[in-house]
Amino acid sequence: MEVNDRIHGFCLQHKEYIPEVDSTAYTFEHEKSGARLFFLENGDDNKVFSISFRTPPVDDTGVAHIVEHSTLCGSRKYPLKEPFVELVKGSLNTFLNAMTYPDKTMYPVASRNDKDFQNLMDVYLDAVFYPNMRENPQVLMQEGWHYEIEKPEDPLTYSGVVYNEMKGALSSPDDLLESRIMHALYPTTTYGHESGGDPEAIPDLTQEAFIAFHAKYYHPSNSYIYLYGAMDIAEKLRYLDEEYLSHFDRIPVPSKIDLQPEFSHLERETVAYPVSEEEGTAEKTFLALSWTTGQSLDHKAMMGLEILEHALLRTPAAPLRKALVDAKLGKDVDSIFETDMLQPFFSIVVNNAEPERLDTFYHLAMTKLQQLAE
Ligand SMILES: [Zn+2]
Repeated sequence: MEVNDRIHGFCLQHKEYIPEVDSTAYTFEHEKSGARLFFLENGDDNKVFSISFRTPPVDDTGVAHIVEHSTLCGSRKYPLKEPFVELVKGSLNTFLNAMTYPDKTMYPVASRNDKDFQNLMDVYLDAVFYPNMRENPQVLMQEGWHYEIEKPEDPLTYSGVVYNEMKGALSSPDDLLESRIMHALYPTTTYGHESGGDPEAIPDLTQEAFIAFHAKYYHPSNSYIYLYGAMDIAEKLRYLDEEYLSHFDRIPVPSKIDLQPEFSHLERETVAYPVSEEEGTAEKTFLALSWTTGQSLDHKAMMGLEILEHALLRTPAAPLRKALVDAKLGKDVDSIFETDMLQPFFSIVVNNAEPERLDTFYHLAMTKLQQLAE
């Protein structure tokens, strides 16, 4: 195959040998549907397939996360209640999962067995393009939220797989802190929303908004397909074209990720979280100093920041860490460098501190950074 060759509805756009992974990389575009496909060809029999969609949330209802769970609750060809659970039990897969990021949703599978691999691909493709959640409103109730009551005199409560999962996730102060840092750092872009879903907002999600989200983003024009390993690529392209992609026409999908403009000055935000009465609030404060850090497409800058995070904060002798620990601002010093998003962020965190140490923390961190930079 050479660049500009057409094969089973795909056009080869780029081909390059990548010595670091001893593989040949191909990028294709499916001409009718607009789907993009990246293939890493090598001798590895542990084959990988993934399909991903850009799914930027516009609120805190967790719709992207609930759709991710719900697509795997039965589809046109596989009308089981839980095909995902069946695959976990009955397939020879070496990897099987789905995950929601702040701006995208991914469906990766891997297997060493050709037939199993083909079957996994088909279950996942049918799930993302033709899920039963569109016709069956009980899927949103099960995976998202529903009302629950045991006895008539009991209070009416909420339940649901994602509702309960996020209630658990956001009850840990560290996870809540990261969510609130993003809310503060990205006030006008998609990254300011809790893509997993905030339990306070999850019950606002309606069946209509749920279906509309799927219809808008789960289209080949908004997808990226990934294949890796030793396989007959022509056969895979033919299958993808005939069984799925040729049934869709290219459409414009408004899923571009906007960048948060810089603030004109340092912003401060205080957020509360619950602790039990017996625990009290002494040494329960987290102090965080955070920045957005360019774009993840700038690989050199990202690698540099990763090295800096390690050198400044990640070892006991790391100078910024040591300065903050020696100042006894809190019990521990931590850092967050989140790069799984277009506009990453970096945070320095002091755990188990007190609110009145905020100014000392800020000035010490900035002075030390200035010194180290010099
Ligand atoms: Zn989940």
